[in-house]
Amino acid sequence: MVPDTYWGSFEEISKYNVSLNYAEKLWLAWYTYMQNDVLATGIVSFVMHEAIYFGRSLPWIIIDRIPYFRKYKIQQHKVPSAWEQWQCALLVLLSHFTVELPGIWAFHPLCQYFGLVTSVPFPSVYKMAFQIAVFFVLEDTWHYWTHRAMHWGPLYKNIHKIHHQYSAPFGLAAEYASPIEVLVLGLGTVGCPILWCAVTGDLHILTMYIWIILRVCQAIDAHSGYEFPWSLHHFLPFWAGAEHHDVHHERFIGNYSSSFRWWDLILDTEAGAEASKRRRERKLASMKKAQ
Ligand SMILES: [Zn+2]
Ligand SMILES: [Zn+2]
Repeated sequence: MVPDTYWGSFEEISKYNVSLNYAEKLWLAWYTYMQNDVLATGIVSFVMHEAIYFGRSLPWIIIDRIPYFRKYKIQQHKVPSAWEQWQCALLVLLSHFTVELPGIWAFHPLCQYFGLVTSVPFPSVYKMAFQIAVFFVLEDTWHYWTHRAMHWGPLYKNIHKIHHQYSAPFGLAAEYASPIEVLVLGLGTVGCPILWCAVTGDLHILTMYIWIILRVCQAIDAHSGYEFPWSLHHFLPFWAGAEHHDVHHERFIGNYSSSFRWWDLILDTEAGAEASKRRRERKLASMKKAQ
């Protein structure tokens, strides 16, 4: 007999699964209590995304209202108004309910089809960290090429222009985009782990959740509009961060990657004054050589 409350399920599970840790018991109790895996995964996925998206954007909204932080703002004269942020949040919410929510119901069957594990125990932290690092690299590659393609005239005009409404981005604007763009770029975030699972047959849905949480935080921070002396790219020079993506919104051309700087560096699509200067110097040097 299945207890009719969540905590009833939790107690029952704790009695018979002493080897599981607390988080694993919470997880198993949720699936046992729900008695419907599609609904159980769907609710967790949607609530998690909303909580992380708006929770992570909140500190940036507060920072925008505090004059002390103005010196760290990349485009100092373009601080978004409360009204602008409110409008942006409403459109993002609308997109979450109309584009993302229907897709989420296909998430559990999709995971099952490709063999993602939803049971306990969880994989080790090392395994999760390694797989997430691989997803960051794969997604960045997908993002670079699809984002660069979306800057091609007709695709830009019909799809990507919405995301570029803000030439000085802010955290909430990370997912402010056309539904087609949400689907195409979202495919990189969800599709890379699924591809990994199809090839290796080894992925837990918890690893997928942690990856999505980190990816959402990365996107919001990249749109924050703030560059600090303690920003991550000062310690990891190949990390893109806000400094990288802010220039993309300001100039519309170059810096197409999401998480790393290597694609723009290798393919010479870096944006900004520094990159233009380097390009000019290279051109001058090759002209001198030719003479
Ligand atoms: Zn763009
Ligand atoms: Zn952007």
